[in-house]
Amino acid sequence: MGIVVYLNDQFVSHSEARVSIFDHGYLFGDGIFETLRSYDGVIFKLPEHLNRLSDSARYMRIPLPLSMGDLEKVSYEALERSSLKDAYLRITLSRGVGTKGIDPDHCGVPTLSVIVKEVPRYPPECYTSGIQTKILSIRKLAEHSLSSRVKSCNYQTNILAKMELNQHGMIEGFLLNHEGFVAEGSVSNVFVIKNGTLLTPSLSCGCLEGITRNTVIELCSQELNLIVRQTRLAAYDLYTADECFVTNTIMEIIPVVGVNGWTIGQGKPGPITLGLSRLYKDLVKNKGY
Ligand code: PMP
Repeated sequence: MGIVVYLNDQFVSHSEARVSIFDHGYLFGDGIFETLRSYDGVIFKLPEHLNRLSDSARYMRIPLPLSMGDLEKVSYEALERSSLKDAYLRITLSRGVGTKGIDPDHCGVPTLSVIVKEVPRYPPECYTSGIQTKILSIRKLAEHSLSSRVKSCNYQTNILAKMELNQHGMIEGFLLNHEGFVAEGSVSNVFVIKNGTLLTPSLSCGCLEGITRNTVIELCSQELNLIVRQTRLAAYDLYTADECFVTNTIMEIIPVVGVNGWTIGQGKPGPITLGLSRLYKDLVKNKGY
């Protein structure tokens, strides 16, 4: 019951789970991860998460010690051991223990862990009233640096963004890319609705290809018959949006009703955002994923 940890090739008690201080994940943030969740015992979009993990691993050239099938089995075994039906899961793969500076060629086997625990919850009023946000002062690295498409353990930019949000008592804000266009939130993807069209930053703007993002895009085009455009968004598009919301695996869909002290739309969650949230809830409830 409670927290379950799988480390390298076995399940260990969470109080005894240890990783070497010489692991490059600890020394240099050299690793990748995935955050997943389960609904009523079924892991949401597990193959999609594992594909993204596999792409991150290929990009970073960290060999995955388990096959996709075995990772799936371990994830489910970890979930079952936790006895949680609605759980948070985190898979981390780091470069492993190294002996010579940053050089990955001098590292042993990669370190793999799977953690299962309770889902952290956002305050319910975020969903009913929407949230205030701000455009963050730190910017994302350019896509020709470390790509935003890789979910790497190097979250320094996002952490500095989070510190700025904490100072303002906010749970989310907007990260611009090096050109000044909206990329994503500190831990989420960003959507705007304008004149009945759904707009979201394209991947080339420097955002993670969120699993929730893809689900929302599918729901909008298939269920709501909305035109979806992956494009470039500027601060202008946030200020003049009819509706706005942010998404991630844990938050699902959170309406945004203000940015930098200015009201977005009617200052309350808009009809399309609420309709989409209902569709998303139905999808996860009926396990239609
Ligand atoms: N962007 C960033 C920077 C994130 O950390 C996350 C959360 N993983 C997302 C977007 C949303 O991704 P997902 O929908 O797959 O949780």
